[in-house]
Amino acid sequence: MLPLTRTIKGVSVAPGRVVAVVKHMPSPVAEPTEHAGMPPGTTVESEGERIRAAAASVQGQLRLRADTTDGDAKEVLLATARMATDPLLLKSAVARLSPANPGGARSAERAVWEAGAEVAETLQALGGYMAERAADVLDVRARIVAGLQGLAAPGIPTCEVPFILVAHDLAPADTATLDPAKILALITSGGGPQSHTAILARALGLPAVVAAPGVESIPEGTVVYVDGAEGTVCTNPDGELLQAAEHWTTKANSRPAFGGNNTLADGLPVPLLANVGHGADAGAAARAGAEGVGLLRTEFCFLDRDTEPSFDEQVTAYGAVFAAFPGRKVVVRTLDAGADKPLPFLSNIEEPNPALGVRGYRTDATTPGVLERQLRAIAAAAAAHSSDVQVMAPMISTAEEARRFASLCASAGLRTPGVMVEVPSAALTASAVLQEVAFASLGTNDLTQYAMAADRQLGPLATLNDPWQPAVLQLIQLAADGAAQASAMTGAPKPVGVCGEAAADPALAVVLVGLGAASLSMSARALAAVGAVLSTVTLVQAQRIAMEALAAPSAAAARKAARNRLPVLAELGL
Ligand code: PEP
Ligand code: MG
Repeated sequence: MLPLTRTIKGVSVAPGRVVAVVKHMPSPVAEPTEHAGMPPGTTVESEGERIRAAAASVQGQLRLRADTTDGDAKEVLLATARMATDPLLLKSAVARLSPANPGGARSAERAVWEAGAEVAETLQALGGYMAERAADVLDVRARIVAGLQGLAAPGIPTCEVPFILVAHDLAPADTATLDPAKILALITSGGGPQSHTAILARALGLPAVVAAPGVESIPEGTVVYVDGAEGTVCTNPDGELLQAAEHWTTKANSRPAFGGNNTLADGLPVPLLANVGHGADAGAAARAGAEGVGLLRTEFCFLDRDTEPSFDEQVTAYGAVFAAFPGRKVVVRTLDAGADKPLPFLSNIEEPNPALGVRGYRTDATTPGVLERQLRAIAAAAAAHSSDVQVMAPMISTAEEARRFASLCASAGLRTPGVMVEVPSAALTASAVLQEVAFASLGTNDLTQYAMAADRQLGPLATLNDPWQPAVLQLIQLAADGAAQASAMTGAPKPVGVCGEAAADPALAVVLVGLGAASLSMSARALAAVGAVLSTVTLVQAQRIAMEALAAPSAAAARKAARNRLPVLAELGL
């Protein structure tokens, strides 16, 4: 008898149809209980031996992984492997097993946990390079504790054959070790279409479905079919689905690469830019044909930092991005710390409601000086390169904030200040806001979460958290109209681009252009698909499609209306 097929409906994030076995992301290692003591029948010696064996096994696993990589990744893995059997860590853990330990005897798991915390604290206190190793100690600690508990090692799982990764959601830190050659698709029970998993999946060009309840109960090793455009996951797929996946792979492999200089069918240029987090991303984006950078998320350069990066570090980090785009536009966004991207030197993690708290531009009031120093570093990096450097502030809510940001930019010698329009108040007052600055970029991820009052990270709210929602499309139209008004009033062009994830959806990209977007910025992987679809419509057609989407009563109806007008999507397997 054939195994039963089960279909799970989730939310579409990135298109593509693939079939492979699933592997689950292990749960994070929980802190072992305090004062658990040693299990009966064990001795300090036997538990000490167990700790050493678990540490040696972690070291062996990390070395094996290092053997499969090269460059920086290999160095990092080898350094972490050495940390696993660090004498200080093991000595401190074993000492805690003894009844003579000041706090009483600890279980092996608890002893490793506390010893790891102590070593990490010591490294932190030393600062500089040593402080940066603290995260490695905590990673090794979690691996040893998982080994002692007989659980799978934390982090992205490994497998001999390519697989589909199942998780509740992925954290930004997980992304560093995700190898797209090994992972064919992502499916999560949590997250939303603008969550980190979604952003990552698009960046890697991986088919993905989020907010698919029940995927975590699919047994490890089950063969599943994922349709990223439909948002469906089917276990034990039949011949028809296997064929659909094969067909999609052939189409995807034959899709031409993006050639740069994007134009609509009538020849109107609509530059396609890239969203990047650091120099390496920028290099990849340039190779993918991006016409510039529409969003440099500077906080991504410093996510692992406890302290404000120095002026020189900042100049180096931004310069690496400018170097990849000589003579091209690069829009640098000042630090957007807070909510899902806390930076210890700017964010108050105790806030009860971080998405509505002191984040983005607002941190300038609570931690003055960081923004001005960042602007000076951007200006210094820009002076050493030929890129057309523009700067924008995240989370601007009022025209007064826009004015103050523009004056800080002017003081730093930066001539093209702009703002993100991602708070509904900024979209509603776009005319006043844009009279203060040179350009705006629509952050549809946050604009959607704030318009719909739906946390972008929450799976159960994924259908609300959809940029096709009529309210979001209306806000985008208002922002574009406001910018046109500001342009007429000041006599200066006030271009509005889009740098939220909406720009990477080829059908929505057409709508955004129809609503007035002058450029679109996205993960480099999305450039080819978006460019291929935009090249088939004229501006007038895009405007008509946008009007139909705007008139639709729901997100699903808007999406359907636009997709019906774009048969090229099906032809390209998008
Ligand atoms: C957005 O909010 O749409 C955006 C581009 O910024 P981020 O995703 O970094 O918040
Ligand atoms: Mg945002």
